[in-house]
Amino acid sequence: MQINRCKFLLIKISTAAGRALFSFLIPSGLILFIAFLLTREPIVEALPGLSRIYPLIVLFAGLFFGWRFNRSQLVFVILVLALVDWSLLHFAAEKAVSVSVGRTLYNAISFLLPLNLVYFSMMKERGIVTRDGLRRLSLTAAQVFGAAIICSYPKLGFAVYLEHSFLDWPLLSKFPMAQPALFAFGIAFLLLLIRYFQHRGVIDCGFFWALVSSFFALVTDRIGPISTIYFSTAGLVLIISVIETSYGRAFRDELTGLPARRALNEILSKLGRRYTVAMVDIDFFKKLNDQYGHHVGDQVLRMIASKLENATNGGKAYRYGGEEFIVIFPGKSMDEVIPHLEGLRKAIKSSDFIVREEERRLKKPKTTKRSRSKTTVTISIGVAERDERNSTPQQVVKAADKALYRAKKKGRNRISK
Ligand code: GH3
Ligand code: MG
Ligand code: MG
Repeated sequence: MQINRCKFLLIKISTAAGRALFSFLIPSGLILFIAFLLTREPIVEALPGLSRIYPLIVLFAGLFFGWRFNRSQLVFVILVLALVDWSLLHFAAEKAVSVSVGRTLYNAISFLLPLNLVYFSMMKERGIVTRDGLRRLSLTAAQVFGAAIICSYPKLGFAVYLEHSFLDWPLLSKFPMAQPALFAFGIAFLLLLIRYFQHRGVIDCGFFWALVSSFFALVTDRIGPISTIYFSTAGLVLIISVIETSYGRAFRDELTGLPARRALNEILSKLGRRYTVAMVDIDFFKKLNDQYGHHVGDQVLRMIASKLENATNGGKAYRYGGEEFIVIFPGKSMDEVIPHLEGLRKAIKSSDFIVREEERRLKKPKTTKRSRSKTTVTISIGVAERDERNSTPQQVVKAADKALYRAKKKGRNRISK
């Protein structure tokens, strides 16, 4: 029994970790890997036009999608990346105006860019041609102005700070970047990773990979086609993550994060000859809403969704609507999935849900006291499989709904076939 439970836990952890790793690496990590291949010497030489056309496509696509999807964040990053690429090519490439100007500009950019990427990743959507948008634009303009002053007037002494070495570690001297920039990148990597693991957002993931791509651009042997390809890839990764988020929104339920009805209809049309459908409904949910309020009801929906999301035996959960969910088990018979559904039902029943209530005292209406109470939530499940009688997905869903009705009638908190 104990061994079985350990096995079950291990499978659960490994599937969850596998899924997390997959969504972290695909598509952004893969795009960066393709960029890495494109920057190999023979390919760069065979495709001289690539570093001229690619940044233009990314620039226009970024501005277009930023505008269409109302993502000022994307517009800002695309503009900053284009500006950085352009300035490095013009002032810090091999044939730089003067070595010291080029190096100072390179130092300033490699210090400021990671910090700007972190800032953009955290900013709230407030438009571009608005007061907040203009303030953000002026912040970028101030940095450009500052960098121009530092580069033009080396006698001011700021350039020295950008080249300062704090630590005497041989590893740090292997990078062409000065230590302040390396630390800025290190902090940015850490912050973006933490942000991604906290929110698991596609755009947060995009920002992380855009930072990695920008880092590659800046540590390449020479500023030129290779750095341009990496900067453009940073922009491309973000454009794709914005498109993916907008597309995903139509298929994902905003409250629970589960795939929504539209995604369910899509999978129903693709199921094979053998599958089982489980219709899940929360018991006495209306009473819970009435007793604790709609926001507590929402939290319960999220909690149940997160449990259903981890359904074993290949089960995939969808929010069907309201407080009803559907779990589909492709390629599985009813008997094969019932023990797994039983596991879900028990897990939900045994997880105490802690409700934080605001207890308002009638005598002193101004004072509010927070109290916590535990409550248990149960679910009822109706199961049906595809057979001769129920041969279309619609019929199977209907049969599962009827079975759910029977589970409710028999007293709830149970599974009915
Ligand atoms: P039963 O055990 O028979 O299923 O009883 P029930 O109260 O759960 O069933 P009923 O279908 O009467 O109630 C469903 C309630 O779910 C009514 C509706 O207000 C609530 N609900 C639907 N969607 C949401 C939502 O997104 N958030 C919250 N908080 N409540 C919701
Ligand atoms: Mg219902
Ligand atoms: Mg219900």
